[in-house]
Amino acid sequence: MSGAGGKGTAAGNRFLARAAAGVRELAPYVPGKPLAELEREYGVTDTLKLASNENPLGPSPAAAAAARAAAADLALYPDGGAFDLKSAIAAHHGVDPAMVTVGNGSNELLVLLAEAFLEPGTAAAYAQYAFAVYALAVQATGADAIVVPARPPGSRQPFGHDAAALAAAVTPATRLVFVANPNNPTGTYLNGDELRTLLEAIPRDVIVVVDEAYAEYVTVPDYPDTFPWLAAFPNLVIARTFSKIHGLAALRAGYAISHPDVADLLNRVRQPFNVNSVAQAAAIAALADAEHVARSRQVNAEGLRQLTEGLQALGWRVPPSVGNFVLADTGGPALPLYEALLRRGIIVRPLGNYGLPNHLRITVGLPEQNARLLAAVRSLQEGTVP
Ligand SMILES: *Cc1c(COP(=O)(O)O)cnc(C)c1O
Repeated sequence: MSGAGGKGTAAGNRFLARAAAGVRELAPYVPGKPLAELEREYGVTDTLKLASNENPLGPSPAAAAAARAAAADLALYPDGGAFDLKSAIAAHHGVDPAMVTVGNGSNELLVLLAEAFLEPGTAAAYAQYAFAVYALAVQATGADAIVVPARPPGSRQPFGHDAAALAAAVTPATRLVFVANPNNPTGTYLNGDELRTLLEAIPRDVIVVVDEAYAEYVTVPDYPDTFPWLAAFPNLVIARTFSKIHGLAALRAGYAISHPDVADLLNRVRQPFNVNSVAQAAAIAALADAEHVARSRQVNAEGLRQLTEGLQALGWRVPPSVGNFVLADTGGPALPLYEALLRRGIIVRPLGNYGLPNHLRITVGLPEQNARLLAAVRSLQEGTVP
């Protein structure tokens, strides 16, 4: 094809070779398959998505109502400074509003951190099997990625971050270290001692991003409260999101808490209206609904047990997870299982792009949804349905 919309000829589209080096090599992020796509491609109805770590309870009713109310003012630009949302976040965590940066999902904050601190010749470190967005954000800047081997499969926190190795991997060129706590897709976490030791070992001119997208789900007692550490570590950035326990993934809102000087740098690269007004209003209401968060945590804790024990009983290796998803070793290639589940209307997440071709990541659903997933896996194993 040589038309305007085509791929171009050998002679055409030579600008591709002129794209920024980091971008040229980039493979786009692969999201969980949307329900509508599954229905379109497989002709199935009664579908179930357990692929993107969304809250099966949905958002707080107060957040949904706030979103509807904000939709009355769609002609107006949002508050670019997100004054009310930043104030609510600051009050919620007991920090100064100058320490808060809001983002179009916490994903955007990860990208802004990379933009603000990385360029060719610098480096960022993160663990093998860490959240895939770190690699994308780093690569797009042309900086080098230092990928630190994960903990071995049979160990405590299998496939999780090796905190000591991460600290040791920091070079003079390193500007950023990404730590997912808990990590997605492994469901592992660093405890307070491990994370604190990591922070102490890293030079104060290297930014350490602790991505706490699932923090509100964690119930283990040795999971660290990192907010009190901000005073001692001006290089610490805590990233949070409204997409996971708050159930607002569609609206795209997240935030970073950091030293005000880091927030100031992020604000220089941030688009002026990066968080829309519907998202701002809903996020404020979500933060205020502690009861919905507590209920979501409770439902998840029970579902996590149901899913973990249910899959283990079916012979899959499922290490303990502290998030709202499990990493399941299916004992063989997982892609055929993923596709067989799609035919039954269930979307889970294959992890070939993470280098885990035998694993599936499965989001915790409501009790009946978890039961449906378990029944589908059982029927696949018994070969009762194709
Ligand atoms: C889901 C997720 C995020 C961010 O999601 P947003 O919707 O962009 O806020 C960040 N980090 C991890 C580890 C995640 O799993």
